[in-house]
Amino acid sequence: MSLPEPVRRDTRLDNYVDRYAARAHGMTASAIRALFAVANRPEVVSLAGGMPNIADLPLDAVGSVVHDLVVDNGRVAMQYGSGQGEPMLREQICDIMRLEGVVAHPDDITVTVGSQQGLDLVTRIFCDPGDVVLCEAPSYVGALGVFSSYQCDVVHVAMDEEGLDPQALTEAIGAVRNAGKRVKFLYTIPNFHNPAGVTQSLERRQQVLAVAKAADLLVIEDNPYGLLGFDGEPIPAIRSLDADTVVYLGSFSKTFAPGFRIGWVLAPHAVREKLVLAQESATLCPPVFSQFAISAYLAKHDWRSQIKIFKEMYRDRRDAMLAGLSDHMPAGTSWTVPEGGFFVWVTLPPGLDSQSMLPRAVTARVAYVPGTAFYADGFGSRHMRLSYCFPTPERIIEGTRRLGEVLEYEMSV
Ligand code: PMP
Repeated sequence: MSLPEPVRRDTRLDNYVDRYAARAHGMTASAIRALFAVANRPEVVSLAGGMPNIADLPLDAVGSVVHDLVVDNGRVAMQYGSGQGEPMLREQICDIMRLEGVVAHPDDITVTVGSQQGLDLVTRIFCDPGDVVLCEAPSYVGALGVFSSYQCDVVHVAMDEEGLDPQALTEAIGAVRNAGKRVKFLYTIPNFHNPAGVTQSLERRQQVLAVAKAADLLVIEDNPYGLLGFDGEPIPAIRSLDADTVVYLGSFSKTFAPGFRIGWVLAPHAVREKLVLAQESATLCPPVFSQFAISAYLAKHDWRSQIKIFKEMYRDRRDAMLAGLSDHMPAGTSWTVPEGGFFVWVTLPPGLDSQSMLPRAVTARVAYVPGTAFYADGFGSRHMRLSYCFPTPERIIEGTRRLGEVLEYEMSV
């Protein structure tokens, strides 16, 4: 029996385009997605993706947790569960947040499908089309995607090496309000920023919070990397400084593993109630099996030591990247020095354009994410994000060497 010919689709023409809701037009493929196919080829050193490196995850330990879960409690763990998330896990999440000074009650937590869904739910309950969301310049590409899908207007606020600039924040709020628009919240990544690689000092957090409170503005604090600082103790979370103004997003993706897809939102009580309703309408409940598995892992294993192992591995890679950049970048290039997390933000010499240069870089077998991916307004072409989380230190150094050659060439033509 012969199979029918596959239907050939011309992906450039979308016959359904007239039928989509207006919000679907804001859903466009990110530059990162288009890159993945090429950057994943083995000969390319990818400094593009931000995938956590879970090679050090103790698979035996995780395997035994999952095995015991199925055998001992499978019929509960594989059933529907609470829309807010499993109570035991919510208690453990409170213990984790204490490491960054956050004192919270398990009832104020909503478990989500990664912090990405936290972002989606928060935006869903707060934002109407045309509402303004303030974001750092640059900001997390996945958050920009969410804001765009809810038809929000993103206004970027300048950063420096200490993160968000409070003066620029004050000015941005004033300018938006003077233009007759509503600002719904400030979205900020205070620790080891994606993509900028910088961290807000405690003083900076206090200043940002003071500006937000004075302007009666909610702060969405997105903190997936907070426990991955390379030196010293974590800086207190913004949420630890104020429980009413801050909605905090957390995640197990970087401290455990992203495939379980578990994150959380800590929010003031009334907001939490709305979030659970939104969660129930989106998913009925977050993945129960994943929650039970993470909960058992946290209870039975020394997860703090595991995070330490992750941190040391990422610090070695960060060091390799900084050494490679110093050795291979041409004069006029500068970059941030991250104290944790996964990313370095590079500023190219004047005249270079990271987007138009990308095909040449890929031909030279190195990939990065052009800075424009991290702005809603087309800015960023003199920047690129480099991630050091995944390749080995040797590959990272080789990647910076190849990148240096591409920059030298671009400057010579
Ligand atoms: N926020 C930031 C700043 C991120 O970098 C990421 C992951 N790249 C997320 C949120 C989403 O993470 P997850 O959904 O896996 O928790």
